[in-house]
Amino acid sequence: MNEPTPSQSIDSTDKYDFFGTIQGYLDAASKAIDLEPYIRTILSQPKNEIMVHFPVKMDDGTVRLFKGYRVQHSNIIGPFKGGVRYHQDVTLDDCKALAAMMTWKCALMRLPYGGGKGGVKFDPRGVSRAELQRITRRFFFSLGSNIGPDFDIPAPDMGTNAQCMAWAMDTYANTVGHFNKQAVKGVVTGKPIASGGTLGREKATGQGVVHCITEWARESAFDLEGATMIVQGFGNVGSNTALLLSKLGVSTIAVGDHSGYLANPEGFNAHKLADWVAEHRSIAGYPGGKTISRDEFFSMKADLFVPAALENQIGEHEARLLNVKLIAEGANGPTSPAGERVIEERGIALLPDVLANSGGVTVSYYEWVQNKRSESWTIEEVDEKLEIAMKRAYAEVTAMARARKLPLRIAAYAVALNRIQSVYRERDLFP
Ligand code: NAD
Repeated sequence: MNEPTPSQSIDSTDKYDFFGTIQGYLDAASKAIDLEPYIRTILSQPKNEIMVHFPVKMDDGTVRLFKGYRVQHSNIIGPFKGGVRYHQDVTLDDCKALAAMMTWKCALMRLPYGGGKGGVKFDPRGVSRAELQRITRRFFFSLGSNIGPDFDIPAPDMGTNAQCMAWAMDTYANTVGHFNKQAVKGVVTGKPIASGGTLGREKATGQGVVHCITEWARESAFDLEGATMIVQGFGNVGSNTALLLSKLGVSTIAVGDHSGYLANPEGFNAHKLADWVAEHRSIAGYPGGKTISRDEFFSMKADLFVPAALENQIGEHEARLLNVKLIAEGANGPTSPAGERVIEERGIALLPDVLANSGGVTVSYYEWVQNKRSESWTIEEVDEKLEIAMKRAYAEVTAMARARKLPLRIAAYAVALNRIQSVYRERDLFP
């Protein structure tokens, strides 16, 4: 395994309060639509914050204690829904921010879900496959009946994948269980196909990013054929976005991940690079590119930038370096508020995370519906439904932005909050 070169993989220098940032956006959107103050108050904190510690026997016989989180932000519209992240820096506040964003995303996409997010604090690259399985199983065992197919439905996020979801479902089935055996499958989404996953989930987030980019290109009369892109993060979201855009004639000329950054002015072969990453777990050593620094990456002249790694990657410094027309946020929270101010000043268009990366949870919903109905849809059915859903959300967000003269991010929050407000008004507060 290639270790990161510290000088190349340092993050944005902006201090970042992820949960505080999301609260700021919530405030701005609440003001824009005159959200009832009591709803703003309710949404300001998650409903439940679960923190667990669990031991795992490592391959060398030692026992390591792990810290895990599951934050359940809102279930006013439906069961809590959101990914599980494995990363050494994950904190409770990150999970709170990400869980709240899931509430807005599901409301924006008209899914019958609320928002949740979880995480385990460790570096998944530093453990063996057998250890990864034991960590996953012990984490989901610790969560027990705090999750469930009609209560809280986890999915993959950074550091987790379909295999982790298969272990998670199996653990739930063998410990908590369910009278309806088919329903147990719906406890997590993003599963492998044979274990109850859906066609199209693996690429869904990237596909949603691409639908947003094509809508933006159509509205801006911008020709994607022959366009160039830089992408940060070449995991699930970054690689699928690059693969799908390459089919539209967009070439990826620079790419970065935790190990560093590479450039290729001729364009990377996204398939070959994805195969390399699948084998070597990073882009390091890929023969088809030249090593560049992080600053050189951010300064590359290209048409599109897709951040698809971590939050807080585009601070003020990076925003001044950027030389692109559009940023489409595949990652959650990649742009800091200070970075965003510079991006606005410089007239760079930005498609916000809550809209741009919502294809993943949308296809997760399709998977859950198929599990409930014991159906398996064709890839064409999934793709068609996702395209309609993404284009509708894009149109609603841009219409809101035009009508209220809002940045797209605040407009996306506003569309979501309007929907949540309608439910509160109709149901009122218990008791
Ligand atoms: P992943 O684990 O598959 O890939 C993450 C990528 O980020 C890897 O290439 C990794 O090397 C890179 N990375 C990590 N640290 C980095 C650093 N310091 N500098 C540069 N690159 C770094 O994760 P993913 O599922 O593709 O998720 C990426 C982002 O997209 C996250 O913000 C996640 O929340 C968001 N997201 C994912 C989904 C999904 O369906 N997987 C859905 C919506 C949003």
